[in-house]
Amino acid sequence: MNYDVVIIGAGPGGIFSAYELTRLDPDMRIAVFEAGHTLNKRHCPIDGEKVKSCIGCKSCSIMNGFGGAGAFSDGKYNITNDFGGTLYEYIGKKRALDLMHYVDEINMRYGGEGTKLYTTAGTRFKTVCIQHDLHLLDASVRHLGTDINYIVLENLYNDLKDKVDFYFDTPVLSVEADDERYRVIVKDEVYTCDECIISVGRSGSKWMETVCKDLQIPTKSNRVDIGVRVELPATVFAHLTDELYESKIVYRTEKYGDKVRTFCMNPKGAVVSENTNGIITVNGHSYEDPEKQTENTNFALLVSKQFSEPFKDSNGYGESIARLSNMLGGGVIVQRFGDLIRGRRSTPGRMDDAFITPTLSATPGDLSLVLPKRILDGIIEMIYALDKVAPGTANDDTLLYGVEVKFYNMEVEVDERLECRHKGLYIIGDGSGITHSLSHASASGVHVARCIAGE
Ligand SMILES: Cc1cc2nc3c(=O)[nH]c(=O)nc-3n(C[C@H](O)[C@H](O)[C@H](O)COP(=O)(O)OP(=O)(O)OC[C@H]3O[C@@H](n4cnc5c(N)ncnc54)[C@H](O)[C@@H]3O)c2cc1C
Repeated sequence: MNYDVVIIGAGPGGIFSAYELTRLDPDMRIAVFEAGHTLNKRHCPIDGEKVKSCIGCKSCSIMNGFGGAGAFSDGKYNITNDFGGTLYEYIGKKRALDLMHYVDEINMRYGGEGTKLYTTAGTRFKTVCIQHDLHLLDASVRHLGTDINYIVLENLYNDLKDKVDFYFDTPVLSVEADDERYRVIVKDEVYTCDECIISVGRSGSKWMETVCKDLQIPTKSNRVDIGVRVELPATVFAHLTDELYESKIVYRTEKYGDKVRTFCMNPKGAVVSENTNGIITVNGHSYEDPEKQTENTNFALLVSKQFSEPFKDSNGYGESIARLSNMLGGGVIVQRFGDLIRGRRSTPGRMDDAFITPTLSATPGDLSLVLPKRILDGIIEMIYALDKVAPGTANDDTLLYGVEVKFYNMEVEVDERLECRHKGLYIIGDGSGITHSLSHASASGVHVARCIAGE
């Protein structure tokens, strides 16, 4: 089978490549290969009753399938160059922002209309933050919410399915370069194409490494972010979340000069566990639908670590910390802030005594036995700093879940077209190590589509 373009991965990067290519050149023959299921068949078996924890499905419905890792996410679509990736370093700040706005417009047309766009522009919180040595990053954030995000994906799929050949449950095994054409090998078939877009996200990181090795594409190690998920009564952060929804705040610690930042804020949301290659870590969700909202807000506090010599494996470092927490807690550990600073473990009794109801059932324990001192000290300092702009953050009953780890793919060497050293082979989205968000990954998809179509 021969195609003009083969796209590997149907996450936001792959979807928006396909969308833009079909728009610019309706005659182009395009195939999308996706390791996971169609959107309607993506169901995580964890129901909190019969299945309480990850059973290691062959294809993880949270991470794989149409919509990619973002399908059941909170759908926080951040329009900014300040975080979410470094796409702007390749294509320029203006183009990157224009593309993120373009994708936002498409999302609105495909079911997101009516959702709110929050912005930090002109907010008084910037001043309040800086007065306490906290730095609020600039962004506009469209909050689709898990429910609307799903509808947008459903509509995009219905639009694309007759224009593109989708192959689901079809992981690509390898890609071979053959005189500026590509051979895409799946289980029983070989497909050829003139141009190939690889957009395999975080879940495809190990596979991406083999492709880079086979095709001798240079890579460099990326950072890893390690920390905890904080959960507190929604009222503590309401003045910030009502106006900004998501505030990305950075703090430089006095003790070590490390940067600690807030990440993925979920007003009235729920803390969830996540399985990345068999390691249980923590994350957060929130819903647009008021019926599904909780009384708590959660967000991550993360510290970045990158290693060079003699140890290069930043992800391996993060994995070891997460494994240690899994070993001690059998999964996610939860600790009250008051217990942490008094140097004692949280127990089921102390948890029952708390004035907050946790949204995730986790094992009460002691995070100081898991997180390296430097990282934990930074997190504690930041909690006290946040307490000045959101009093109540440093209350005894504030819950800390651990560990939260954000792994990033190694950065693949590509040019301003996101084309690697092999002509016609593009590497985009989170799989390239360049993006780490829905907006940047989607924008990278539109960008390569326009490059391929000669726009
Ligand atoms: C729980 C959760 C919540 C999140 N919330 C947000 C949020 O609110 N806002 C935000 O900006 N970001 C969020 N993110 C991150 C966001 O989802 C990702 O940045 C984004 O999905 C990256 O898009 P992508 O297309 O590069 O990769 P992905 O979305 O990971 O898609 C890659 C696809 O490739 C497929 N694949 C992998 N290997 C192969 C192979 N060999 N052959 C065929 N297919 C393959 C995978 O199955 C997957 O479907 C969240 C992530 C998670 C896990």
